[in-house]
Amino acid sequence: MKAAVFHGPNQPLAIEEVDIEPPKKGEVLVKIAGTGLCRSDLHFIEGIFPWPAPSILGHEAAGVVEQTGDGVTSVQPGDHVVFAVTPSCGVCRYCAAGKPYLCSAASGSHMMKDGTSRLKLRRDGRLLFHFLGISSFAEYAVASEISIVKVRDDAPIEKLSTVGCAVVTGVGAVLNTARVTPGKSVAVFGCGGVGLNVVQGASLVGAWPIIAVDTVNNKLALAEQFGATHLVNSAREHPVLKVHEITGSGADFAFDAVGDVDVLGQAFDSLDRGGTAVMVGLSPLGAKYAVDTMSLFNDKNLRGCAYGSASIHHDIPMLVDLYLAKRIKLDELISRTYPLEAINEAFDSMKKGEVARAVITF
Ligand SMILES: [Zn+2]
Ligand SMILES: [Zn+2]
Repeated sequence: MKAAVFHGPNQPLAIEEVDIEPPKKGEVLVKIAGTGLCRSDLHFIEGIFPWPAPSILGHEAAGVVEQTGDGVTSVQPGDHVVFAVTPSCGVCRYCAAGKPYLCSAASGSHMMKDGTSRLKLRRDGRLLFHFLGISSFAEYAVASEISIVKVRDDAPIEKLSTVGCAVVTGVGAVLNTARVTPGKSVAVFGCGGVGLNVVQGASLVGAWPIIAVDTVNNKLALAEQFGATHLVNSAREHPVLKVHEITGSGADFAFDAVGDVDVLGQAFDSLDRGGTAVMVGLSPLGAKYAVDTMSLFNDKNLRGCAYGSASIHHDIPMLVDLYLAKRIKLDELISRTYPLEAINEAFDSMKKGEVARAVITF
């Protein structure tokens, strides 16, 4: 099969022929229909987070089951599936406690669960490392059964590629993590793939106002399409002052969808008394944010968020239902599609802020 191979930081991904082994016990082979380019993938390509090479990156994807290994019961060939970045094993202490988004089976492992790889370079037989148990920048992926979620097959499968990362994280941060209720004010800092989904999550629950903050005007225009009621270009206006001006007393909820310490500070400073700031974005390793402890006296909260606090087997099918019912947008999230051969070009357009999501389709 063809795959985009990562040979080390700050090098373009190389389109190469890769051999993929059939699925072993508890594993599933999926033909990829679409795979989104997430900023986290870029962090690995740019070496901000380390990952061993050669490997196949990519973790936001949807496709059709081609083959199942022994013992697989939840899917069969022909089923439409979405990959979940955080798997759900169902039996670890976190899954058992109703927090599958913290599942112990989620690992930064470079290999499949049994410690081996299913991928090798055809030209020299070298083994390739896996990525988050998914490795979707390829025509096919082998994943553990616990990393995939069966979805209804009347939704266009390539359009579902963003659901398992950007959508479940952004919408989930509003529904599950912050539990925003109707009429509450929400400020969203950063209107990329995740931020737009925070905006549409806020719109879904009837929050008001929904203030979108970004430095790029076309992302703000997208945020408006996704339900933002007020737009703030933070390159021109002070976002904290603007949020206070719009809300009168500060936001009930503020989301950092960038993963930047300064942006988190702006989100926290935008809060009303009793408000909650949620860190949704992935920040660089070791980044630290200092809190003015007096603000905690005002019952302000700062909370983390893992994978939209999602229960994948509940939330992912629900998001697909909401998409088909036209209650959430997925088509508009995909600004452009590219063939696998143009993946580096697709990353360039992401870096330039030209796209909400660029998606590779097959
Ligand atoms: Zn992602
Ligand atoms: Zn678990």
